[in-house]
Amino acid sequence: MAIDRFGRNIHYLRISLTDHCNLRCVYCMAEDMTFQPNADLMQDNEILLLAHLFASLGFDKVRLTGGEPTVRANVVEIVRGIASTPGIRSVSMTTNGLLLKKLAQPLADAGLQRVNVSIDTLNPEKFKRLTRWGKLEDVWAGILAAEKAGLAPVKLNAVAVKGYNEDDLVDLAALTVDRPWQMRFIEMMPFAGATDVQVNQVVTMAQIKQNIESEFGPLEVSNNGELDGEAQVFHIPGAKGDIGFISSVTQPFCSSCTRARLTADGRLRLCLLREKEVDLLTPLRAGATLEELRRLILDGVWGKPWGHGLADGLIPLNRVMSEIGG
Ligand code: SAM
Ligand code: SF4
Repeated sequence: MAIDRFGRNIHYLRISLTDHCNLRCVYCMAEDMTFQPNADLMQDNEILLLAHLFASLGFDKVRLTGGEPTVRANVVEIVRGIASTPGIRSVSMTTNGLLLKKLAQPLADAGLQRVNVSIDTLNPEKFKRLTRWGKLEDVWAGILAAEKAGLAPVKLNAVAVKGYNEDDLVDLAALTVDRPWQMRFIEMMPFAGATDVQVNQVVTMAQIKQNIESEFGPLEVSNNGELDGEAQVFHIPGAKGDIGFISSVTQPFCSSCTRARLTADGRLRLCLLREKEVDLLTPLRAGATLEELRRLILDGVWGKPWGHGLADGLIPLNRVMSEIGG
């Protein structure tokens, strides 16, 4: 079991399959973003070896992310390998959904259990402005394909950005009235080279909740008031689905954090919003034994920071979100 020095049992691993992406969302990366060469990223066998090692240390839950995980070559085979790793009970993915129309069924057949699809607005023009390159209809087709493939419950993610989609969040919330989906609103966070957008265009959870409640009346608590992952969950009275709020900035959930991240270049990142990382790929390529790699992981987990420092103005400077794996 991997325990940190605060007694938290860290058993949830987010693996970034690549830092590359087929979109350029304004809150995530610059339009002229440069990506790491493929040779510097974990190769398929390295991902699977590390997944086995983490599983042997009690990690039982894996989420694949990026960048955009579906642009990774062999993504279906990687999912199959991770899903069949002894000890791994749950494999999910966070994706922009563009390629799900084609991939949802093969991914489900390979053992993927759930997806979170990012969709920040239902307005095609605004979607294009936010993602710079994306077509809303492709994402929508991907969401429907995911549902059809049984990747349920479908969870949708929206980052709220002032001046871009703040007026569209009520429409997104309304999707849950007739559908058993979870619509989750994420507070925007600043990363390396924090942009004006990330710093000045944050919409807080309190504001979003207020907007939704002014349309639908007071939201009712779901999940007995317990966090669902990192989300506080509610529902519109009588609705089939839920609404989640991920308020990393204004109401951090660090005390209940059970996760660690493996970046696409093989670094164990202990907190999304702290720079501390442990390089696993270099020792692996240099011939470290499995026991030595296990020790690196356990020592890294032990030193997991308590929480982030956004409230004190501390922004992680070494990477942007897409490089860490959101
Ligand atoms: N490409 C996939 C996607 O967009 O879902 C997976 C990777 S993306 C980095 C994971 C999540 O992080 C997405 O829901 C995205 O909206 C969110 N995200 C990206 N930049 C963010 C930021 N600055 N603050 C908060 N969330 C962010
Ligand atoms: Fe790509 Fe996801 Fe970042 Fe958008 S949020 S640019 S889809 S990695």
